[in-house]
Amino acid sequence: MTHLELDSVKKVFGDPEKEGVVAVNDLDIDVPDGDFLVLLGPSGCGKTTTLRMIGGLEDPTEGEVRFDGTVVNDVKARNRDVAMVFQDFALYPHMTVRENLGFGLRRENNGMTDADIKERVTEVAEMLEIEELLNNKPAQLSGGQKQRVALGRAIIREPRLFLFDEPLANLDAKLRKTMRTEIDELQSEVGITSAYVTHNQEEAMTIADKIAVLNDGELQQLGTPDQVFNEPTNLFVAQFVGSPDMNLFEGALSERGDSYRIEMDAASFDIPKRLVDSEIDSDDVLVGFRPQDLYQARTRATNGPELDTQVRVVEPVGTEAVVHGTSALGDLTAKIGRFHDLEPEDQMELTIAPEHVYLFDPTTESLLK
Ligand code: ATP
Repeated sequence: MTHLELDSVKKVFGDPEKEGVVAVNDLDIDVPDGDFLVLLGPSGCGKTTTLRMIGGLEDPTEGEVRFDGTVVNDVKARNRDVAMVFQDFALYPHMTVRENLGFGLRRENNGMTDADIKERVTEVAEMLEIEELLNNKPAQLSGGQKQRVALGRAIIREPRLFLFDEPLANLDAKLRKTMRTEIDELQSEVGITSAYVTHNQEEAMTIADKIAVLNDGELQQLGTPDQVFNEPTNLFVAQFVGSPDMNLFEGALSERGDSYRIEMDAASFDIPKRLVDSEIDSDDVLVGFRPQDLYQARTRATNGPELDTQVRVVEPVGTEAVVHGTSALGDLTAKIGRFHDLEPEDQMELTIAPEHVYLFDPTTESLLK
């Protein structure tokens, strides 16, 4: 197992003297032994570059990459003892599954006999339930089976680190869900520290111990899935994590004794100060409501804002529905139960408990509450 650290890591492509592309800037990430880190962010935010610096395929321009406290910046990729899994599987097409799995062990020349290698290949094939496929060539496998072989090739050597670069991107939605659970289980079972790149927030939420949310090469937040969802450090994280998107409106804030009063275009409400960690010193705020936190006022008493909303579209998702509507504040999305009597054009009153409201500073976009 390996304790992975990135310390003030920066990567500039092109000539740093002539304003090259800053792909990653001042990145500090600490991944304890055996943890599963997910690097999450939109296209071009620097996820792959970060993973490649961990794997030794890219040199940092500044800063240190450390494995168990030892700086590995100058250690070549092949000597870092990391295993990488990519979205295109990268299997050898002319070799059988058995040969693909055993290849790394044979090449390492580590004193294993043919019988040892055969035993280890069988063990890993059993773990991944691909024993029946051992004599097949990659062209005879489905996408999910190929990805299992690619995973098998990574675990067979028991590396110090697993690095995954969007490994499920080429699989269909259903298989992606199955495989991400399998990767999660496999990683917990073998306990190898892992870093995993994805732009899919749902995938990140289900698989990660810690998520590093990146934007424009900068770390926005490093936290557990629960922290990045419930306590996003800023507007970017709040909007990138969670689905459907957070509703956002402008508001004015004033102090009223033990509460903050929030006034929006067509609704106002109070937030008790005890729900706010530190004093808010801002007159204008951005007010965020997660669709999951809105509910129909008739179903429960409320101290929150009351938002008269006309239903536009009802999209059932299992026992709940995503309802898109138009309120006096503007377009609104709610995820609610008890939706069966709702139809387009219906009027409903939505509300939210004050403790579930997010407030952001409109200038810095950092979380105020
Ligand atoms: P994606 O999800 O699209 O793969 P990403 O978050 O992995 O994106 P990176 O591939 O790390 O992002 O790229 C980060 C930035 O660095 C981008 O602006 C990209 O254009 C730039 N970049 C990446 N590799 C190179 C390179 N070899 N030369 C120049 N610029 C590069």
